[in-house]
Amino acid sequence: MSLKKLWEMQQMRQRYLQLKQQIKTSPLGLKLEKEKHVMEKIRADLTERREALRRLSRELRQRELDAKEVGEKIKRLEQKLYEGNITNSRELKSLEENLRWVKQEQEEIEEEIINMALQEEQLEEELRKAEQEFQQLEQTYSAALEEYHRWKQELEEEMRRIEVSHHQIIFQIDKDLLKLYKKMRPKYGERVVARVENQTCTGCRVQIPTSLLQALRRQTDLIRCENCGRLLLYE
Ligand SMILES: [Zn+2]
Repeated sequence: MSLKKLWEMQQMRQRYLQLKQQIKTSPLGLKLEKEKHVMEKIRADLTERREALRRLSRELRQRELDAKEVGEKIKRLEQKLYEGNITNSRELKSLEENLRWVKQEQEEIEEEIINMALQEEQLEEELRKAEQEFQQLEQTYSAALEEYHRWKQELEEEMRRIEVSHHQIIFQIDKDLLKLYKKMRPKYGERVVARVENQTCTGCRVQIPTSLLQALRRQTDLIRCENCGRLLLYE
């Protein structure tokens, strides 16, 4: 009888499912999954901040060009004013007014440039720090990920070995017995066959009557537990 082989197959399947479950519920795996999302967020945030800094630097350069332009304008106006060619007082007044106005604009631009430069410096500093922190985080993460992959690979290798053994053992089991097993599996899961230990069915923990034990010792027929109905394996 191939009940022992069926039992072995059942053990394989149990171990297989156990390994699968271990991978699925690995605390490290779950932690890494969460960290992955956090890191993606940080990465997106850093990209956004880099972009903002680039925008600011571009604006700052533009303002510096504006300042240069205004400076040249002032030079031109001053030249015109001090050359002494303008004698008309109204025209002179208007020129002076214009110069004052442009100088005020220059002051405003310069103030803006100072503020922007300060802001740029601050952003650069913050970004540098954040990037350093992220780099460290990435290192820790990838080390943990590597450890997890190694562990998972080991389990998966065992699963593959079980698959091979399972495929082989299935041919050593009587076809009718296999059919019965498949029929019983929806009810008992991977615990169709129960060993007898200390005269007790390990499937339901109920003691086996002496008469049944004697039949089990001969083990010529399939014997099911009177309480739970599992196939009993007596060794
Ligand atoms: Zn039982």
